[in-house]
Amino acid sequence: MKPGLEAIIGLEVHVQLRTRSKLFCACRNAYGAAPNTQTCPVCLGLPGALPVLNAEAVRLGLRLGLALGARIQARSTFYRKQYFYPDLPKGYQITQGPVALVEEGRLEIPGDPAVRGSEGPVQIRIERAHLEEDAGKSLHDQRPDATLVDLNRAGVPLLEIVGSPDLRSPQEASDYLKALHRLVVFLGVGEGNLEEGGFRCDANVSLRPRDQEAFGTRVEVKNLNSFRFVKQALAFEIGRQAALLEAGGAVAQETRGWDAEVGETRSQRTKEAAMDYRYFPEPDLPALVVAEAEIAAARADLPELPEARARRWRAAYGLGEDEAATLLQDPAFAAYFEALAAACGSGKAAATWMLGEVSRTLNERGTGIDAYPLAPEALAELIRLVEARHLSFGTAKDRVYPALLAGEGRAEALVAAKGLAQVSDRGAIEALVAQVLAANPGPVAQFRAGKTSLQGFLVGQVLKAGGGRLDPKVVNEVLEEGLARG
Ligand code: ADP
Ligand code: MG
Ligand code: ZN
Repeated sequence: MKPGLEAIIGLEVHVQLRTRSKLFCACRNAYGAAPNTQTCPVCLGLPGALPVLNAEAVRLGLRLGLALGARIQARSTFYRKQYFYPDLPKGYQITQGPVALVEEGRLEIPGDPAVRGSEGPVQIRIERAHLEEDAGKSLHDQRPDATLVDLNRAGVPLLEIVGSPDLRSPQEASDYLKALHRLVVFLGVGEGNLEEGGFRCDANVSLRPRDQEAFGTRVEVKNLNSFRFVKQALAFEIGRQAALLEAGGAVAQETRGWDAEVGETRSQRTKEAAMDYRYFPEPDLPALVVAEAEIAAARADLPELPEARARRWRAAYGLGEDEAATLLQDPAFAAYFEALAAACGSGKAAATWMLGEVSRTLNERGTGIDAYPLAPEALAELIRLVEARHLSFGTAKDRVYPALLAGEGRAEALVAAKGLAQVSDRGAIEALVAQVLAANPGPVAQFRAGKTSLQGFLVGQVLKAGGGRLDPKVVNEVLEEGLARG
């Protein structure tokens, strides 16, 4: 793309809400059941069946809305969006309009310096987020001669989050999506499973000359079910539109689908073929009225948000951006980290253990932190021994930690029983250093001739001679003295 053009991107995200039942009936909201076993007259659209709004879905929408810093509407209404499709039994989708439960929020992302010209976070505005029902699913791959319909998903609660066209690159789009996903999962608003359709994204993209204020014609890209696809599809689409414009052509307003196998977007329907949904107010549902007290309760119930938490960890514990982000991926993991940091007195050491040994153990066992056998206090006892230099990090990791996992006892008792305590006694270390210097005349001569990188080798020899129990700091000091003495 020529530098004179700028990409404008706005995302529409559908989040399936983590409720027990569907949005307007008592059918179970769960993925994976046998087709058409979670249906009733309401979600099948049988004549005369009446919808009743699920209060839990409202609460979850409210929760995410507040986390997005949005204005919660005291009164919002439901509309019918009408179209024909085999997986839509009523012939219309119940959605919100013209006012949504959630209006005017925002989400902070790290800005893309490549397009912003400077580092630093940017606020992406959110136009609105509305409650609506999901459609069923057409199954095209079950029979060679027919398409089957599964209505288990019909009526599952969705929150559609309409982002403003504030994103400026595929990288920013992907960062926005990840931040939103993290929030959804963190708050327990949705499961956020992308493969199962629990978190879906349509991307709108247009180009404009950098010196122009008005937006260009936009294209909507559908079927983006991974963060990577969003980035790839937008990059492809930006390239396609740029080529058209640079050749003096025009972009057609249309809906395109992402073909992941070929790596291209393909036209699905043009503006001329766009549907008129004939929206009108849903007569079977009263307005959704949210009392001030409900909003206050939802606000009080909100935990510290991931962004704030990461900021606090960076300031209080000196963690890096990536460390904090990794620790935050799973709320239970983050909670364990906080407990561990508090118990051992060092956030930095706690982070090292969480991202190192604890993660390794969980990977090996294929479990989450919920199934991790050690209480934070038990692991903290081990970390405190290392921090107080009673135990070397290597011994802690290789000898004591496995014993802790095997349930052989508490850290202090294990160290005493196995005689693993770190040796910081200078006398003992001086004797070992003298031995190692005498046994390695070659490296010592080379060191003195200027090859200082050999110090590491010599330290290693001393540590080895000490059975891995020597305090490396004291070893380094004593060794330096020995080498200097010549
Ligand atoms: P529709 O009702 O057709 O879905 P909306 O006004 O709801 O249209 O906008 C849908 C999405 O398109 C929003 O996420 C918005 O940010 C984005 N959008 C609107 N105009 C543009 C544009 N010119 N370029 C890129 N994205 C845009
Ligand atoms: Mg829309
Ligand atoms: Zn039902």
